Amino acid sequence: MTRTDACVPLTVREGRAVCPACGGRTQVVILSDTVLIKFPLFCKKCKTTTLVEYGQSQSLRA
Ligand SMILES: [Zn+2]
Repeated sequence: MTRTDACVPLTVREGRAVCPACGGRTQVVILSDTVLIKFPLFCKKCKTTTLVEYGQSQSLRA
């Protein structure tokens, strides 16, 4: 598994996390209030793990 410190914004399609590497839908379910920070998203399709973030900016207001 290749690790980088780069964290990319996650794209969600039909409630599932989309692989930033190949654009395919993964098995990871994303809810409307899901927050991910440096989540290692693994894609079975291209067998790539990508660090992603999601919903972070929306939850900054406490
Ligand atoms: Zn992929």
